[in-house]
Amino acid sequence: MSTFAQLGLSPPILEALDDVGYQQPSPIQEQAIPHLLQGLDVIGQAQTGSGKTAAFGLPLIAYVDPAEHEVQGLVLTPTRELCIQVTQALRSYATRKGVDVVAVFGGAPIRSQQAQLRAGGHIVVGTVGRVKDLISRHSLMLHSCRFVVLDEADEMLDLGFLEDVERILALTPSSRQTALFSATMPPEIRRLADQYLYNPVLVRVEAATLTVDTVEQFGLQVAAKDKVSALVEVLEAERPRQAIVFCRTKVRCDQLYRTLRDRGMNVKALHGDMTQGARDGVMIGFKDGRTPLLVATDVAARGLDISTVSHVINFDVPGSPDVYVHRIGRTGRVGRSGRAITFYESRQQRDVEAIEAHSGVKLAPWVKGAHVAATEVRPRPRRHSKPHDADRAGAAPPLAKLVIAGGRADGVEPKDVVHALTSATGLDGEAVRNVLVLERFTFAEVPRADAGRVLEAASGAQLRGRPLRLELVRG
Ligand code: AMP
Repeated sequence: MSTFAQLGLSPPILEALDDVGYQQPSPIQEQAIPHLLQGLDVIGQAQTGSGKTAAFGLPLIAYVDPAEHEVQGLVLTPTRELCIQVTQALRSYATRKGVDVVAVFGGAPIRSQQAQLRAGGHIVVGTVGRVKDLISRHSLMLHSCRFVVLDEADEMLDLGFLEDVERILALTPSSRQTALFSATMPPEIRRLADQYLYNPVLVRVEAATLTVDTVEQFGLQVAAKDKVSALVEVLEAERPRQAIVFCRTKVRCDQLYRTLRDRGMNVKALHGDMTQGARDGVMIGFKDGRTPLLVATDVAARGLDISTVSHVINFDVPGSPDVYVHRIGRTGRVGRSGRAITFYESRQQRDVEAIEAHSGVKLAPWVKGAHVAATEVRPRPRRHSKPHDADRAGAAPPLAKLVIAGGRADGVEPKDVVHALTSATGLDGEAVRNVLVLERFTFAEVPRADAGRVLEAASGAQLRGRPLRLELVRG
């Protein structure tokens, strides 16, 4: 196996990889990076979870000259979630080289994105619609954009964006280098590649190797009416560090979310009926570890990469074996292990067999207590602090401790803290406990069930005329 240095990456990028804690290239990175560094066009057949973002992102950053103040690289994504995710990844790889990455996506004010583009950006990561819009407003120029990536091209096809993608490609120099990444290769994507890529090298990783090796898979037969209690039992037994629970429909997702929330669990929902802002808030809270449990539909969680997810629970049997692979691909990410537990009713036995045939794995019966010791996921260096055990779903102690920026030196008094925590969140004043004002910061406790809400809502609140900044105390 090669190292990142052997693939030909330069010191600033190697240092950044060190910062994010990647030790070895994943297979798709090992295959794609050398070709892309040589300037060749590449078709990468790989899914989320394979490390595809770094496979195209590292050569893209290597290509960019930070001294040249024009858009030199463009990554097109089908969804806003993926756009945000790719941007975060590229920024983490780019810091040591001083390359600026700008994200442009719909549903957010176009003006601030225009301002960011005016301020300069070497790489633009954008959703197809917003990129088109910014081009038509002359806010985004692509005449110097010689490195273009189409990420999740099959999703772009599904969402009806291919024509727009072609229009955008036509505005970039014909001498550009193009990389196309897609989990599947339907004929329309092959045609796109034939037309817009020059002598591309095809690199691929088999979908099966993405998951089967690293995810332990279980099935649990359960009657429809007992699903909620079975879920609670599974969560208590498994004590997941972070879990996604998949439901078939938005309505079921919302119902389950309410039921779990009413049982005092720290849980969030993610589905298509929520506003974009609310979805972003939930995604950010989940990604940085504040939310240990997420109830989601397939569409809302599409392409979502969360490297810390230890468990995927299929509350409803996936509609197809492909959906199953997609769902459980959320766990067991590069070099880590995960567990997937699929609930099914007796009449759904055939669906389970189809999944087993497709993934080539037999789902072991889930048995309470038989495997608790095997659930730990290896620790890894992280940029965000990890949720502590106490945050684990189903194991919530009654109070959560918060640390708040500002203390006696800033004139803060306990009543200010109570006011700040209650005014923005609707929390009862009685609920804020053990306020301890120190010289430069303050501790306070709130019911754990409300902590997530407080952390979110309090970001808009004020403490003695200054924006309230607070964090959960871990440990
Ligand atoms: P992706 O398939 O690009 O969405 O990446 C999946 C996850 O794997 C992300 O959380 C990446 O940060 C992580 N990752 C990518 N490459 C590596 C690597 N070489 N070593 C460890 N983690 C990686």
